[in-house]
Amino acid sequence: MAAKIGLALGLGLGSVTQRAAMAAVTPSPSPSPLSNALPPPHSVIFLKSWSARRRSLRLDSSRKSPFSLRAQASTSSDSEASSAKGIENVVIIGSGPAGYTAAIYAARANLKPVVFEGYQVGGVPGGQLMTTTEVENFPGFPDGITGPDLMDRMRRQAERWGAELFQEDVEFLDVKTSPFTVQSSERKVKCYSIIFATGATAKRLKLPREDEFWSRGISACAICDGASPLFKRQVLAVVGGGDTATEEALYLTKYARHVHLLVRRNELRASKAMQDRVHNNPNITLHFNTEAVDIVSNNRGQMSGILLRKVDTGEESVLEAKGLFYGIGHTPNSQLLEGQVELDSSGYVIVEEGSARTSVEGVFAAGDVQDHEWRQAVTAAGSGCVAALSVERYLVGNNLLIEFHQVLHF
Ligand SMILES: Cc1cc2nc3c(=O)[nH]c(=O)nc-3n(C[C@H](O)[C@H](O)[C@H](O)COP(=O)(O)OP(=O)(O)OC[C@H]3O[C@@H](n4cnc5c(N)ncnc54)[C@H](O)[C@@H]3O)c2cc1C
Repeated sequence: MAAKIGLALGLGLGSVTQRAAMAAVTPSPSPSPLSNALPPPHSVIFLKSWSARRRSLRLDSSRKSPFSLRAQASTSSDSEASSAKGIENVVIIGSGPAGYTAAIYAARANLKPVVFEGYQVGGVPGGQLMTTTEVENFPGFPDGITGPDLMDRMRRQAERWGAELFQEDVEFLDVKTSPFTVQSSERKVKCYSIIFATGATAKRLKLPREDEFWSRGISACAICDGASPLFKRQVLAVVGGGDTATEEALYLTKYARHVHLLVRRNELRASKAMQDRVHNNPNITLHFNTEAVDIVSNNRGQMSGILLRKVDTGEESVLEAKGLFYGIGHTPNSQLLEGQVELDSSGYVIVEEGSARTSVEGVFAAGDVQDHEWRQAVTAAGSGCVAALSVERYLVGNNLLIEFHQVLHF
């Protein structure tokens, strides 16, 4: 049974009685100076009129809102008891396409998700797409959209529907006992469920000029960038000798004039089938015992080649190429779950096939942190949706749901 709270909105709409609840996010005892820049920890009342019309939404009375909210609790309930203890329905960790999509769905399901967007651990807030320019394959944007713009739109959509966002890194998790504990640099939150969407980080070679040419010649995703005007019909190179690198090289032959595969060892580690495909493709040249040393540019500052070194002889040469793709793998950002949730040998979170369920009940995973295969924005977003819907089912099934209703502000 849910608590009933009578709400008088300063909108001239009169009082509305709706189910609602309150929850508190407990601040750490000594917040760092950064916390001044963040929304203050607060009790939140979420209200939502049942109008079918879409309007922008304000979340709580502590944020600047043209209207004040007043609430009176009129009955008690299990939900109220839970919320009085300050236990959240769901905490989402990560703010890439998986995290924000989960936040949108969870917020629209009236779960009032708390989202830790990250700050610097495991990438920047907004995730991997913040490091790219054009995203040409996300549905709904026929002319493409920049990565940061796409992520800003997702963020605003999550916020509009009532997600509570904190730009903080989660530093500690305890999912061994329920309610779970999530501790960030600024606060500690108790919750009944978690969506872990911390993504993965593409491994880098750390070439001296890598930062200068990242997204301007260097990429870690052939499917994402191979067809871009920067690389189309150009000579390109891929670094790596495993399945990822061979797959990237083969994919790039669809668009590139020619592809060079730079392999540090004297053999490929890829599966036999992939090796055969590479060997049989006349548009791929294999360079064994070869490592990339640095990027070479022309006098206009554009990438024009790659400085190579033979690992057996030390001989150096320049390979003319307009792009360098890293196919050396990703590191899933799953360190917080080590020893608590089942991970595979590479650190990816293991989820039950076709679901977001991990080995711990109430802990769900979405996006690249549980996906070593597809690693696309749209697949990450899809799995974020699955995770949020699964959370709702889990909370309902275990009688843990605290439903929050939100008011639309004009
Ligand atoms: C250069 C580049 C270009 C790409 N281009 C495309 C493209 O054109 N199209 C496409 O479909 N895909 C593209 N991708 C792949 C796509 O970006 C990823 O598949 C997608 O971002 C994965 O989403 P995610 O939500 O799982 O994780 P991510 O986007 O990696 O986001 C993870 C989030 O978790 C946060 N986080 C990590 N650790 C913590 C912590 N301890 N506490 C709090 N937060 C934490 C990070 O800050 C980040 O916000 C590209 C990738 C790269 C690197």
